Amino acid sequence: MLGLMQSQPLLISSLIEFAERHHGDAEIVSRRVEGDIHRYTYRDLAARARRLANALDDLQLQFSDRVATLAWNGYRHMEMYFGVSGSGRVLHTVNPRLHPDQIAWIVNHAEDQVLCFDLTFLPLVQAVHAKCPTVKKWVALCDADKLPADSGVPGLSSYEEWIGAYSADYSWPEFDENSASSMCYTSGTTGNPKAALYSHRSTTLHAYAAALPDVMCLSARDSVLPVVPMFHVNAWGIPYSAALTGCKLVFPGPAMDGKSIYELIEAEKVSYAAGVPTVWQMMLGHMKPAGLKFSTLRRTVIGGSACPPAMIHAFKEDYGVEVLHAWGMTEMSPLGTLCTLKNKHLALSKDEQMKILQKQGRAIYGVDMKIVGGDGNELPWDGKTYGDLLVKGPWIVGSYFKGEGGNPLVKDAQDRGWFPTGDVATIDADGFMQITDRSKDVIKSGGEWISSIDIENIAMAHPAIAMAACVGMPHPKWDERPIVAVVKRPGTEVTRDELLAFYEGKTAKWQIPDDVVFVDAIPLGATGKMLKTKLREQLKDYKLPGQ
Ligand code: AMP
Repeated sequence: MLGLMQSQPLLISSLIEFAERHHGDAEIVSRRVEGDIHRYTYRDLAARARRLANALDDLQLQFSDRVATLAWNGYRHMEMYFGVSGSGRVLHTVNPRLHPDQIAWIVNHAEDQVLCFDLTFLPLVQAVHAKCPTVKKWVALCDADKLPADSGVPGLSSYEEWIGAYSADYSWPEFDENSASSMCYTSGTTGNPKAALYSHRSTTLHAYAAALPDVMCLSARDSVLPVVPMFHVNAWGIPYSAALTGCKLVFPGPAMDGKSIYELIEAEKVSYAAGVPTVWQMMLGHMKPAGLKFSTLRRTVIGGSACPPAMIHAFKEDYGVEVLHAWGMTEMSPLGTLCTLKNKHLALSKDEQMKILQKQGRAIYGVDMKIVGGDGNELPWDGKTYGDLLVKGPWIVGSYFKGEGGNPLVKDAQDRGWFPTGDVATIDADGFMQITDRSKDVIKSGGEWISSIDIENIAMAHPAIAMAACVGMPHPKWDERPIVAVVKRPGTEVTRDELLAFYEGKTAKWQIPDDVVFVDAIPLGATGKMLKTKLREQLKDYKLPGQ
């Protein structure tokens, strides 16, 4: 039909072009590996991303070739987000917390051609570089004078010297919006990792969605601190949404401890921060004993694993900070749901509102979700019935990089493909989803399911408990019974019986754990999530009381 809108591909380069033109002087502040604070603007970032694009062209890197990073959250990493993808290459953010053998495996699987790393990770690069034959250029993200003379990495360049040799004049190429832009390997606990491959279209649509008022609600008035790493699903898309909104960005670099994060929030007047619960646990642990308060922080998005209600409560009541509980996955770019109230909930009491805000939240436009039973049929949205959570949408994986693992999608009666998340959840009549478990962590006692997240949340509400992990133990009569492994807060005391008594009245009697195991630490995976497989291994000789 004649008379349509312009057809323009949704490309990542358009985000940085927009930021440069309309928010050119908005600040990007980074704590650097060198320890100092670096400041510049979107205008500076855009120019340096273009220098990088010229440098990649000069290396003869082809369209869709992979460029890897092993880096903290910082301005140079952000330049790579735009320079690599904008010039048509694929940015591969590698998680430096993985084992060196896994990193070598991932770099080889992705066939990375350039690898840029923060100097913190030089020992890692020294351990893996000889095992990564596809990498033809190793770059340290530092000034030329910081480059170690005897790095042991042949041909190692400094990023500043490298891109400094190129012009900032560059025209971003135009190509199909469905081209690959970046990739991230899943933190899968079994088998080899698989990569989610994001496209320019999926990333741009996700950036729009993430900025919406009922999602992250980002604007040019915000000062935003992504604590969530840029190597974990693109820091939940914040670098892209930041360019789209022109908010001030504050990067924590390598200093991820509670004290450093708190000081940065205060110094840079951060209004909005994002991270996994373990990070906030550390920060609140630093603030509480010292009686510290926030002067500018208003909202924080918490996700990646279940946010304990006690944390949501503490943020709100003790610090006046609104927690937005979010759920998503590497395979979902990552945002799927976010928890914010609807108009009709505003009249509810604080307690009733809190019950809603503990859930993982409502689907964002662009994400469709449903729960299904073992027969694949959709289950009711009644807030009680739980089933396997399936999702579909334009920023959700269709298949993995190189087709690994075959077709992951489940077909419905209309022949549409749904991605099985591996999570078990309920959905209530208002569309609020609540995760009860990872399907592999579900505890089945006497044919009934017990939510390990519920059991952990209750323990976490006890003042003496810093961290809790609930796992099922084999039981001759009930198949499985829950136990809870807990880490005590320093300087506090609680006995097994006191903690078990704390469950009385907070959950059904048969769901109360059979035992409490005190541990020094709960094993965490590379993205800060509890590693229950490892915990089960540690508890392999454990016997339930009376067994
Ligand atoms: P990853 O791809 O490593 O980010 O892991 C995704 C998985 O983390 C999801 O499938 C969930 O099991 C878990 N997850 C993420 N956010 C939450 C949340 N808010 N509550 C409970 N589990 C979560």
